[in-house]
Amino acid sequence: MFYFDYNATTPCNGDVARVMLKSFLTDFGNPSSIHLAGRNALKAVNRAREYVSKLANCNRREIIFTSGATESNNLIFTGLLLSNLNKNKKVIISTIEHKSVLEPARFLKKYGFDVSMVPVKPNGIIDLNALAGEITPDTCLVSVQSANNEVGTIQPIKKICDLCQRAGIYFHTDAAQAFGKIPIDVQAWNCDFASFSSHKMFGPKGIGALYIKGGGKAWPWELPFHGGDQESGLRPGTSNVPGIVGFGEACRLAEEEIEDRMHSVEKVRNYFEQKIKLAIQQITIHGLSSPRLPGTSSIAFHGAPADILIGNMQDICIGQGSACSEGSITQSHVILSMGCGNEVAKETIRFSFSHLSTIQEIDILLERLFCSVIKVRNIFQREKNDN
Ligand code: PMP
Repeated sequence: MFYFDYNATTPCNGDVARVMLKSFLTDFGNPSSIHLAGRNALKAVNRAREYVSKLANCNRREIIFTSGATESNNLIFTGLLLSNLNKNKKVIISTIEHKSVLEPARFLKKYGFDVSMVPVKPNGIIDLNALAGEITPDTCLVSVQSANNEVGTIQPIKKICDLCQRAGIYFHTDAAQAFGKIPIDVQAWNCDFASFSSHKMFGPKGIGALYIKGGGKAWPWELPFHGGDQESGLRPGTSNVPGIVGFGEACRLAEEEIEDRMHSVEKVRNYFEQKIKLAIQQITIHGLSSPRLPGTSSIAFHGAPADILIGNMQDICIGQGSACSEGSITQSHVILSMGCGNEVAKETIRFSFSHLSTIQEIDILLERLFCSVIKVRNIFQREKNDN
């Protein structure tokens, strides 16, 4: 198996798994208990919170552990909804948000919210003028992702934060794809909220965080959940200590290695794109001229539907559009939003690499792709001619 789908998820790092094992077997206490086992678990949770906050550059009180970026994103929209029911407020998001922002925003619409979707330019970067034009006195939240999961484009978050700051509007960024892959600094951004995910950065699945400026006590809206005061009441219930500890360790490692990892994955991605441009004609690399995540490459192979190409290379793990629809293949709203037609959206494959990817693996991928593209294009050309 050859894995090139690191934006969908990453393997758990060995050191991460080892600290988790210790948490499962030894430091298994409930951090809410006041006895020694509980205190040991609490210490481990606090240490993890420190590591996560260091990577985001914030205070550890400002990190709320959740089950992942989906939950963090939902907390934002649900909290806002519960506090503003029937007040017809306005929320602004971009058209290329992940489903875990798009769907909660759509849910708000049901309750009378005005939800504006700001387009991106063909290069996959949000249209800042359009965003500024959408801001009205009744706008209460802007949410724009830090980096896109499909094409990897990195949004000008600092500029968007400044816009929102000037207008006195809360700003949230879904940083699930950026966190741990490129340096992020929530204080320099001056954002109000940011969502993080552990399994995109070699941590375990089912854990993530929400950054809240000023900490949980500064949460401006109703609490969506009830039944415990863990995580400042935002995430009641017994803490997922092994997950938290694993996420913390993944953040500690990412902080140590981020420059090396970025350099290494970018080298591999650029090698892949240079070779593919030479080997295969009639391709489009989406977002090529924009700031992109160093390991992401989204390519349309014209005349070859992506699902057939992927089906032709069973041991090559690559993605079509977003992986979050449980195997169902839907046309990418991201590619469509970038101004491409249905056809191009159907022909687009997402390749996502990591610092673990090697040039040898890329050479195998290139060889397999080359054969598959020729084969599939020939079949489809023949079918077209027959018709
Ligand atoms: N936002 C983005 C941009 C993502 O790529 C993902 C994962 N596909 C999520 C949110 C959801 O993250 P999680 O799996 O941690 O809920």
